[in-house]
Amino acid sequence: MTDLSTNTPQIIDGVLICPACGHEYTHHRSVNIYHRQHEDGDTIITRVSGARVLTEIGARENPSRRRDAIGIVFNCEGCECISELAVVQHKGQTFLRWHRVEKNSD
Ligand SMILES: [Zn+2]
Repeated sequence: MTDLSTNTPQIIDGVLICPACGHEYTHHRSVNIYHRQHEDGDTIITRVSGARVLTEIGARENPSRRRDAIGIVFNCEGCECISELAVVQHKGQTFLRWHRVEKNSD
């Protein structure tokens, strides 16, 4: 897995650029909603992919260390990675960053 958490999301002429290879053709696959009942609480993840909705309570995965986040998962035509563009809450600020890249196993 490639760590892309330090990559700043790039948009060129309104097009989101793949954080791994710089390709301009990415496709969103699913949406993840990371919610905590309170700061530092357990994460509840709601994953939406097409008509399928899954909820996981007590998940360890969360782009925000202490609060909430929303992630849009993309795959790229130029490489085989899967990446998540995350909107992350941290100390009252909102950050936009790539959360992870995994090898495409589909
Ligand atoms: Zn790519």
